Amino acid sequence: MTDMTFSCACGTVTGTIADVGPSHGDYVYCHCTDCQAVPKLLGAEERILEQAGGTALYQTRCARVSFQSGKDRLAGVHMTDKPTLRWYASCCDTPLFNTYANGKLPYTTILLANCNAEGRAALGEPRGHLHLADAPGDTDGLKPMSMAALLRSFFKRLVKDVFSGDRRRNPLFDPSTLQPIATPRRLTSEERAQLDT
Ligand SMILES: [Zn+2]
Ligand SMILES: [Zn+2]
Repeated sequence: MTDMTFSCACGTVTGTIADVGPSHGDYVYCHCTDCQAVPKLLGAEERILEQAGGTALYQTRCARVSFQSGKDRLAGVHMTDKPTLRWYASCCDTPLFNTYANGKLPYTTILLANCNAEGRAALGEPRGHLHLADAPGDTDGLKPMSMAALLRSFFKRLVKDVFSGDRRRNPLFDPSTLQPIATPRRLTSEERAQLDT
């Protein structure tokens, strides 16, 4: 079993994703406009965005994430009126995780730009690229993947997280209320629109 470590750009927020690999989670790229807007908002495009505005992501069971340091520096933002919650390190504005708005729908997706090379190597090849229609630039050679395919894998993990009780062992959410440990802000439509230009 390989554990993958992560760190924000300045090294204040650090931790581990336990037991990573193709049979434990999904390694994908997302090119949706929200994923592109998060690093723009935080000034982290150079660190996060790869070919055709893609963000390398790994989605896994919610209780596999643990923090070694800096958990109190986590902050959250909603890019739209939708539930997806974007977590970042407020010490250096590094985008770190995507989750649902609360812990009731358990999944944690880590942005792989923050992870160690050995851990990333254990993930194998990406399953594919989500939302290629939203990608800027050249998408030649990038394998498309549908959200439906990702949701099927997510649903299997969700069932395990709910029935094992792991849903309440997610360090990003309060175990009793399942609310986020840091109260997120939500961008106004004007703030969001500025990031699309
Ligand atoms: Zn930092
Ligand atoms: Zn996305």
